[in-house]
Amino acid sequence: MDDDTLALLEQLIARASVTPQDAGCLELIGARLAAAGFALERMDSGPDDFRVSNLWAVRRGAQADAPVLVFAGHTDVVPTGDLARWTSDPFVPTVRDGRLYGRGAADMKTSLAAMVVAAEAFVAAHPAHRGSVAFLLTSDEEGPARDGTVVCVERLRARGERLDYCIVGEPTSVERLGDTVKNGRRGSLSGKLRVIGIQGHVAYPQLARNPVHQAAPALAELAVTEWDGGNAYFPPTTFQISNIAAGTGVGNVIPGELAVDFNFRFSTESTPETLRQRVHALLERHGLDYTLDWSLSGEPFLTPVGALSAAIGAAIEAETGVKTELSTTGGTSDGRFIAKLCPQVVEFGPLNASIHKIDEYVPLDQIAPLTRIYRRTLENLLL
Ligand SMILES: [Zn+2]
Repeated sequence: MDDDTLALLEQLIARASVTPQDAGCLELIGARLAAAGFALERMDSGPDDFRVSNLWAVRRGAQADAPVLVFAGHTDVVPTGDLARWTSDPFVPTVRDGRLYGRGAADMKTSLAAMVVAAEAFVAAHPAHRGSVAFLLTSDEEGPARDGTVVCVERLRARGERLDYCIVGEPTSVERLGDTVKNGRRGSLSGKLRVIGIQGHVAYPQLARNPVHQAAPALAELAVTEWDGGNAYFPPTTFQISNIAAGTGVGNVIPGELAVDFNFRFSTESTPETLRQRVHALLERHGLDYTLDWSLSGEPFLTPVGALSAAIGAAIEAETGVKTELSTTGGTSDGRFIAKLCPQVVEFGPLNASIHKIDEYVPLDQIAPLTRIYRRTLENLLL
């Protein structure tokens, strides 16, 4: 079982699946799952020039109302960046210094290989397992993520598919395998603000209206506002200005406009609606003439402590001795889509120190334990 994961991982890394390409990864994984008794269904989606490969695979348990556990993940990887800076070819899996190097080694082909081998071992050892095991895999998580998991979840929901537990294989471990499991993610809400003034000569301010002067107190207030206090799972919501621009470049012109980009990372104590309303109320109170375009790139999700977090925590401790910590930090992931259909979603995978970097790697000694943790989690929940 242990060498199996490494062998499958090497085959996956050798498939150069730069987003949204799948490069045959799902075919390889699908063949393995079919041989283990899974029913496969491709849910490919998207226009011809941006075709996304999606796979839903399920092996029904002996008891129809027993839980359904889904392994979720993505086969696509981010681009390599400058090839000359890689120590070895990113699509030739290479072992050195106790690590396996290759694009996708950490994010997230090790998890995919470990999930497949764990499922194979689980069904071989327990052919009459009570609950069901499923896989929901896509080749577009690193890109726009419009035709990937979100589309599959919508289809599964439309036909009344029930999901109880989901493990997303994102690399979550920080220093040691198992030290961190994500049980939620913050939401992300961005705004593009334009404050409109009247351009003029700096010597005649009475004939102009300076948008920088007008906006400054409002921006200062936005920067120090407490949006919420967070909760047991989330830190307080944060507001950050990322870009600001005004002025013509010369010293004697009052600018006619000020542009500000900002972003909220928000907890489940705030909603996009309440944040929008509060920003508009503040800008109006400051008497600004402005336009503001919003974009919501991710709703937050949260899985409170429960059966899934307990099962994976126990599996991690049994295999590694590590007491895991639940965390909701980091960017967004496909967990946000699955959480709309599945009440318990966590993310767990290997060390994330090298994700998206040159010389991405996974420590060799994390590969087999990861497989055993996934397998033990299946046993904790589905027997
Ligand atoms: Zn990932």
